[in-house]
Amino acid sequence: MTSTRSTTEADWLGVCRRAVSGLAEMLADAPSTKERAVETGTRGSGGDRTLVIDRSAESVVLTELDELRDQGYRFTAISEERGEIDYGDPGVRVIIDPIDGSLNAKRGIPHYALSIAVADGETMADVAFAFVYDFGASEEWSARRARGAWLNGAKLDPAATERRVRDGRLEVLGIESADPRWVSASIEGLVACTYRLRALGTIAGSLCQVAAARFDGMLSLRRSRGVDAAAGQLIVREAGGLVSFPWCDGALAAPLSAVPTSPVIAARSPETLAELETMCGWSE
Ligand SMILES: [Mg+2]
Repeated sequence: MTSTRSTTEADWLGVCRRAVSGLAEMLADAPSTKERAVETGTRGSGGDRTLVIDRSAESVVLTELDELRDQGYRFTAISEERGEIDYGDPGVRVIIDPIDGSLNAKRGIPHYALSIAVADGETMADVAFAFVYDFGASEEWSARRARGAWLNGAKLDPAATERRVRDGRLEVLGIESADPRWVSASIEGLVACTYRLRALGTIAGSLCQVAAARFDGMLSLRRSRGVDAAAGQLIVREAGGLVSFPWCDGALAAPLSAVPTSPVIAARSPETLAELETMCGWSE
């Protein structure tokens, strides 16, 4: 049997790129909102209503994982729709959101992404490989633990810094889970800390914007799930940014699962991370 170490060292980039090709084909076959809005009638393990495109996208990724298993690799897959799938080794976790930003994908709004992370443990701190492909922007983001992060093959600059406007507020802050009720509950903090808001509608995509210092920070206004943030958070950290899941026992202690646990926050300085953390004090 292949060891844990060699499974994390498998050709994950190749797996992810083949999954992107498969997803692109699947999406091209259903280009309209009418086609993409068809629901399966069930909910994913994370609780969202499942679209046929979500389920088809997951099948494309799982076909690639079946192939890896046939090559002798062992792992456990955790996917948004089907939850945990046993591929023979609970010590290596492959965390998949086949389409992060399904509402955007359904409506044809740019920024929806395939997100895949590979971890040798159970929390965000254990992610060793990360991949996010944004189908709206045609951008490939990836990271390897302790080796760096890349956008379309070019290494991201870990020294990139945040920008603030003259009065000290951040220039651009990304928000996710932008339900007007949660925006309303956080509005005072948002007014105080930023000049402009951007709400892409994909946590993975929004984290990548912080990795490239296009956003000066981001936060989800509600609890995020491991499947949403696992890949993006490593990409941010390997690109010189900081990430926190403030409702967990440690900044990176959020579990790699499809269950919502904590908001996710990302920033490019410890000061901004702390500033954004103070906005996560609301109760459920
Ligand atoms: Mg999804």
